[in-house]
Amino acid sequence: MTTAVMAVPLLATPVAALAGSLEQRSVSFVHTHTGEQLTTTYFRAGQYDTSSIARVNYLLRDFRCGEVATMDVGLLDILYDLKVLADRDSTFEVISGFRSPATNARLRSKSGGVAEKSLHMEGKAIDIRLTGFSTKKLQQLAMSLQRGGVGFYSSSNFVHVDTGRVRYW
Ligand SMILES: [Zn+2]
Repeated sequence: MTTAVMAVPLLATPVAALAGSLEQRSVSFVHTHTGEQLTTTYFRAGQYDTSSIARVNYLLRDFRCGEVATMDVGLLDILYDLKVLADRDSTFEVISGFRSPATNARLRSKSGGVAEKSLHMEGKAIDIRLTGFSTKKLQQLAMSLQRGGVGFYSSSNFVHVDTGRVRYW
């Protein structure tokens, strides 16, 4: 009994501190087309940080026309979890984030791999690599999350993840 009573005050502080630190979620990006880089803590103390997310939204804008969209924060959480599962604090190389309908249509006319109703147009999809990590393994980790669509593009060496229905290609 004495041991149990004493264990509570001894454990209280470290456990609370650990829980607090776990609530910080950071991601790093480098955009392969613009060269822009960003490392930001988009979630802290139990909430999403709007100014951090605004910077993410800007980096993930349609760089072809400059249009900035509101990205789905669920997508950031997928990236964060992928980083944790990959067990490395690496940078996501962004191939494509938000796409305006005009950009999507133009890309679609050039490539068979672009969907007509792409979730990129809703800010719910991103095409990425994780620096220093196998893209094939990244695809497998993304599929293991079961939180949305995952596409593997071996010739261009990137993985598409989105917050839509769970489906793989
Ligand atoms: Zn995509």
